[in-house]
Amino acid sequence: MSKSTKQFQTEVQQLLDLVIHSLYSNRDIFLRELISNASDAVDKVRFEAHSNESLLEGNTDWKIKIVPDKTAGTLTILDNGIGMSMAEVEENIGTIARSGTKAFMESLKGQNLANNPELIGQFGVGFYSSFMVADRVEIVTRKAGDPAAGCRWESTGDGSYTIEDCTKESRGTAITLHLKEEMKEYLEEWKIKSIIKKYSDYVQYPICMDITRKEPVKGVDGKVIEGGGDIETTTEETLNSMKAIWTRPKSEITDDEYEEFYKHISHDYDKPLKTIHYSAEGTSEFRSILYIPAHRPFDLFYKDQKKGVQLYVKRVFISDHCEDLLPDWLRFMKGVVDSSDLPLNVSREILQQDVEIKRIQKSLVTKTLATLAEMKEKENEEYLKFYKEFGPVLKEGLHFDYANKEKLQELVLFESSKTEPGSFVSLKEYVERMPETQKEIYFQTGTSREAVENSPHMEALRKKDYEVLFLIDPVDEWVTQALHEYDGKKLKAVDRGDLELDTEEEKKEHEQKREEAKKQFGSLLDFIKGKLEDRVKEVRFSSRLTDSSCCLVADEYGINANMERIMKAMNQ
Ligand code: ADP
Ligand code: MG
Repeated sequence: MSKSTKQFQTEVQQLLDLVIHSLYSNRDIFLRELISNASDAVDKVRFEAHSNESLLEGNTDWKIKIVPDKTAGTLTILDNGIGMSMAEVEENIGTIARSGTKAFMESLKGQNLANNPELIGQFGVGFYSSFMVADRVEIVTRKAGDPAAGCRWESTGDGSYTIEDCTKESRGTAITLHLKEEMKEYLEEWKIKSIIKKYSDYVQYPICMDITRKEPVKGVDGKVIEGGGDIETTTEETLNSMKAIWTRPKSEITDDEYEEFYKHISHDYDKPLKTIHYSAEGTSEFRSILYIPAHRPFDLFYKDQKKGVQLYVKRVFISDHCEDLLPDWLRFMKGVVDSSDLPLNVSREILQQDVEIKRIQKSLVTKTLATLAEMKEKENEEYLKFYKEFGPVLKEGLHFDYANKEKLQELVLFESSKTEPGSFVSLKEYVERMPETQKEIYFQTGTSREAVENSPHMEALRKKDYEVLFLIDPVDEWVTQALHEYDGKKLKAVDRGDLELDTEEEKKEHEQKREEAKKQFGSLLDFIKGKLEDRVKEVRFSSRLTDSSCCLVADEYGINANMERIMKAMNQ
């Protein structure tokens, strides 16, 4: 067949115009897209060779090669993957075949794409991104197992392309970009190296390039010969490390390797407290390695903290701090997630709404909570270390993640009137050691252990030998708002409303005493009430004190003293 010229599908041309004219923000990604296609193509031929070995044609030295040619002004990306037949080139390159993209383009009909460049994040631009840097692109490809059927495609990206037969000895695809004048930077060794390091370091096939080095001529003794000139040697070097440890089976990875990888991605000098290597299959396919650091970072409570784990799509780097993979209350976690289902070109805005990301997040949260529960059970000392560093962040989850409240309430710990300073009790332990007469869970909020311990509100409870949880962390105020009940028992602030600690008998006795007091000191009470009229709602005799003479009590539903302090501090 001779050379023929064809028109792009309208949608393809729209997409191309958009790519060429509106997508400037990060041109470097064109190389990431082409390398990812090459890697996919090698995956495919390897997979298909399982049932048809002849496809391999004796060529299994899997490789992606980058060839910059400064004289010609071209950059070529070669692979020995599956290749394409002519029909496939027409189908894959000339049209938008992927149903998602097509439907998306349909929905955009009538809208001005060029005015909405962010929309492009909703589908992969893939191959077309080469037109960001090139004004002419050539594809020479030959399908595996079909030595006679090479194909050559070429386009300048302005409405049409040409396609013709050609001969190509080796299986696979070569994509040649004729770089625009102002894009010649992409021929520089350092530029290519840095893009590959950033985006394609963990691609599982070697990405190679011929590197030429000049060395002064040396004599037989190894010494440089003065005035001897330079000698040029060219060697093929691999530019990516290929070390994606999350893709390897757990049993083959040593503790040292996990540790080294942690240090690499977290920039932490210490080893992690816990490693969670987890892969999911089924509706959502991803691999992940998450780490709990041993220490909290200095910026854990800063607004602009660098949080979030790294995101890869099929080993191709997408983002360093993807905030949407884990909820805010797990923002201390480090790690990497590699999804098989996301498009390469996901934008930030898309990540936030993407259902796949939501699925991954749900799965990671479940896994993390299960790991923490297991740590608490079986490695309590380690759990306490974790809790001292990150407990306050975990508590935020009680307030913000209703779905996981049940699991989280088993993980939170508190100091109490029955723990040593710096030691904790869980809600479960608290309930287990409640005396039979005790019906509710008591807590007191405050600014320090000392302050709550010496509070007059403690007196009646101490007398009863009832344990009181000390909520002395600033975030505990969230806890009391989120957690009203545990194991069917109400959580009750000791400085609010009526505590109703008394038995029937005690009630009678106290009633009697109050009556007596009223008779004897009623006028004193009225006097105090008169003096404090504007400041308190009520002044009454109480049975909650044993040693102190008076205390302030908040309404059951009013704000308490601690909250009042916090609000004052916030100027409200
Ligand atoms: P995607 O990779 O998301 O499918 P691309 O625009 O990057 O979208 O590529 C479109 C299609 O072109 C690919 O799905 C594949 O079928 C084909 N293709 C692209 N590059 C190659 C290649 N190097 N070898 C074989 N097929 C390729
Ligand atoms: Mg692609």
